[in-house]
Amino acid sequence: MDQRKDNFDVLVVDDDAVTRAQLRFLLLRNGYDVTIASSGEEGWDMLQQRHFPIVITDWSMPGMNGPDLCRLVRENLDDEYLYMILLTGMTEKQQVAKGLEAGADDYITKPFDSGELLARLRVGRRILSLQRSMRETQLELHEMAHQDGLTKVMNRRAIDGHLSDAIARLARATHPSTVALLDIDFFKRVNDTYGHQAGDAVLQEVAARIRDILRKTDKIGRYGGEEFIAILESADVDDAAEVAERIRMAVQELPIEHGGHEISVTISIGLCEAPAGYSGSSALVVERADAALYEAKRGGRNQVVLGSLEPESHADEPLLKAAGAERLTADLAR
Ligand SMILES: [Mg+2]
Repeated sequence: MDQRKDNFDVLVVDDDAVTRAQLRFLLLRNGYDVTIASSGEEGWDMLQQRHFPIVITDWSMPGMNGPDLCRLVRENLDDEYLYMILLTGMTEKQQVAKGLEAGADDYITKPFDSGELLARLRVGRRILSLQRSMRETQLELHEMAHQDGLTKVMNRRAIDGHLSDAIARLARATHPSTVALLDIDFFKRVNDTYGHQAGDAVLQEVAARIRDILRKTDKIGRYGGEEFIAILESADVDDAAEVAERIRMAVQELPIEHGGHEISVTISIGLCEAPAGYSGSSALVVERADAALYEAKRGGRNQVVLGSLEPESHADEPLLKAAGAERLTADLAR
């Protein structure tokens, strides 16, 4: 059973002082933390302030009664599961189904037997712990479906989704956004010289350096083998170029250590800005960023090249002009 402390945090809601005192005594003596509310309204206030995994609430109270409280909880608090136990007097016992329909998980009849109440609480904790592991599994599955296992950035499918969303938002945006394609130079040499594990270490480290420099709102994904794509929303190409230049420097500056080797790598980056109001495809933006990346490679690698969507650049000289290529940095690698 999950022994995390918050599993033992119980909110008791009852308008009767004697019952409150009894429950408090019993629960404290059995290792639970207890918080007390003397009305449904007070209980609801507390539940909105913080999470209680277990709630024991009286059925009949003046004002908000137990089933009302259960209903409010179920309608409004669905972040984390609350296990709710209704305390019913003999008169309400006939209507127990209603209490359960209102959202209670269990009920216990007053005057309650201590052993039974504690046993029911253990059932509640068991269910909470199952809920928690289900939630963790869901999160893991979500990560597995959206994350690149090696580099921990988004995988192709996830980043593609973000890309189309970001480009679609431009239709109503007041700022442009910029897409960056980043490709590690001569990556095959790393694999050939130091082996694939070293190659993996380089990919991980480069991804980490890119992530460190990007803003929290930027998105980064692995696009292909040694190629990454970043979406810099609300950043024009000049802002993005500054970021890209810092990434380029961060990769170049510090060799990556693996298996006693110091592996030096560099990165080439192609950028393309899509303006506010843009209603074209995301594929076109990526294509132009890719053309700029190609220019960066052709120009000697380890550099940032700014592409553009300019229509006139389409026809005659597809590469250089389609990219609207303008070399930002010219210090050539090798
Ligand atoms: Mg009462």
